Amino acid sequence: MQIKKYVKKNGEVKIYEYDNKKYNKKFYEKHKEKLCGESIQCECGGRYKHINKSHHFKTQRHKKFLSNVINNAESLHEEVEVETESDGKETEESVKSEDR
Ligand SMILES: [Zn+2]
Repeated sequence: MQIKKYVKKNGEVKIYEYDNKKYNKKFYEKHKEKLCGESIQCECGGRYKHINKSHHFKTQRHKKFLSNVINNAESLHEEVEVETESDGKETEESVKSEDR
């Protein structure tokens, strides 16, 4: 707990105890509905509450989803590489015909 001094505009000095825990509890009570009320549908198929957002992003389910997204992006990249490979085959064939 901290003792805080607050000087009002009229010069009156107020000394009060500042309890961080109490303040957090007040804040929590005030935003309780927003923090705990509605659960949000996540891209991974799971659901999380606003207060658990950062916690949810660390769950195995969400991490698995994220790694799947990365894998999908990589497989798309592979498809592009396959196309360039077929171009290489065409040049190989033209080289062969020159040999004849
Ligand atoms: Zn998720």
